[in-house]
Amino acid sequence: MTVDYDRLQQVLSNLISNAAKFSREGEFVEVKGVRRGDYARVSVVDSGSGIPKKFQERIFTPFSQADTAESRKKGGTGLGLNISKRLIEGMGGSIGFRSEEGKTTCWIEFQLADTEPQRIDDQPSNEPRRLSGLHLKDDHDFAEILHTGLENDVHLVNETTLAGAKRRLQERAFDIVIIDIGLREGNDLELIDAVPNPDKTKIVVLIAVDEKIDNAYVDLTIVKSRERRGETIAGIIGLLKSARDA
Ligand code: ADP
Repeated sequence: MTVDYDRLQQVLSNLISNAAKFSREGEFVEVKGVRRGDYARVSVVDSGSGIPKKFQERIFTPFSQADTAESRKKGGTGLGLNISKRLIEGMGGSIGFRSEEGKTTCWIEFQLADTEPQRIDDQPSNEPRRLSGLHLKDDHDFAEILHTGLENDVHLVNETTLAGAKRRLQERAFDIVIIDIGLREGNDLELIDAVPNPDKTKIVVLIAVDEKIDNAYVDLTIVKSRERRGETIAGIIGLLKSARDA
């Protein structure tokens, strides 16, 4: 993947300045780059107060700042991360974070230029590779959990709208497509019609209530529940492993 140098720098300076801004005096901010399979990830880690849980789902919306004395004191516009997300996703990458008190990691990730995405069927079976996944979501909190849970097996790209997800499918191949219809009324299942190779792509539908999804291409339907998040992730990993071993 080719990225625009200036825009990448703009995003990194936003992440680094946030990390510095929310750190306590004398603390270090760590910037690290790692290669994860076909992807390069740059993470900015700080040991500050963390992003409040309640605020996390709004962090990428324009003009949003955590409602804390610290945020108010430190100023800013609440636009930086919104712009960063648009720039990174516009260049085909993804951006995310994980935060708890005392440790916040914000990261960006891009597919490396000379690695074409392979399909499950093309891989040598003794060499597990990170797969690529598309996740159409309506629930930010759950998206982060899925992202983290599948991290070692799947590189997940998130899209919040059907149109955005369809666009992604036109751009490149995915091994797995996860449609998180949650409580949203709508036509998100139309995404299945936009999958170029539905019989070769694993399609998972996450639903909020137990109902039957009537579509022959759906490999797995999971009823989402806060208590059984681990099972949801285990179910998806199981499906991917069985596809790999088949
Ligand atoms: P700005 O920093 O200009 O207010 P951003 O969009 O970059 O806007 O950040 C939005 C908000 O997210 C910040 O005001 C802060 O509340 C929270 N935030 C971002 N990064 C961090 C971080 N590393 N630690 C704690 N809070 C953060």
